[in-house]
This record gives sequence, C-alpha cells and structure tokens, in this order.
Amino acid sequence: MRKLTKKQIAVLIYKKTEPKGYSKKTPHGLEFKLNKKYGTTLPKKGVFTCVGCGTALYKAETKFDSKHGWPSFYKSIKNKVKEVPDADGKRTEIICSNCGSHLGHIFKKEGFPTPTNERHCVNSISLKYRPEKKKKKKKKTRGGKRARTRRRSRA
Ligand SMILES: [Zn+2]
Repeated sequence: MRKLTKKQIAVLIYKKTEPKGYSKKTPHGLEFKLNKKYGTTLPKKGVFTCVGCGTALYKAETKFDSKHGWPSFYKSIKNKVKEVPDADGKRTEIICSNCGSHLGHIFKKEGFPTPTNERHCVNSISLKYRPEKKKKKKKKTRGGKRARTRRRSRA
C-alpha cells in the first residue's frame, strides 16, 4: 500500500463514504482538480487508478455524470473491480481486485442511458486520474545509457 491520508484510510479500509459532492467541491478533490486542469470532470482519455495500489480500474470514457454526487462509471476495466455483497445485506460493494480497497457500490438497472445500465458509484478519494500514457520510445536495456549521454552532450 502507498502512504494514505486519514480520509483515504477511512474510505479504503473502513469503508466509509465520502460526503456527497466532495470531489467537486473540495480543492484537493478529484473532480475539482479535473475541472481546473482539463475544464471537465469527464475527460475523454486516460484512466482512473486505485489510490491504494495504482491499478487502472476505469477508463475515462466510461465515466458519466449521474448527478448523484459521486464519480460514476458504467463499466470497469475487465477483472479489475470485484463485486461483493455489502455488509448491509442490500447493496453490492465494489473493491479493487488487486488490493481489496473499498471503492464504493454498484447499482444496476437504474435506467441510465449507458451501454451497461450500471452505475459504479465510487468515492473520489479511492481514485486517482492518470492522463493517457505517452508512448515510450526508448527501452531500458542497452540504448538507455547511450541516449542519456547523447542528450547531455547536445546540451
Ligand atoms: Zn488497489
């Protein structure tokens, strides 16, 4: 596990739910930052990763505005999010399949016009946004050192 804040621990491990609208209203919130940096809380590219272990959980294009107050996704990346019966006996909890961190809950057949009609209601505190990865041209083996010295000599 990475170093987590108290608030993250409360959600990821003790399964608390962050306040409604938290990520949009809080300056350090996920959607607040997205909006500030990209002008939208619904980026088209990139992935949302687990704050606990860094696993990519959701593709940005599956995020939608459900108006429920928490980041919503209609589909997770295959096999990255696990559904488990919630302790409340009613809802279905979703956890990171890699590290078991609590993410939120999944709701099905609510009538959203999405391809799956599912809503993954995720605490923003459990997620991090990672913009699309730039393709690496150089490999670590061999060329790496040479490339570095070449760059240095040019400067
Ligand atoms: Zn994880």
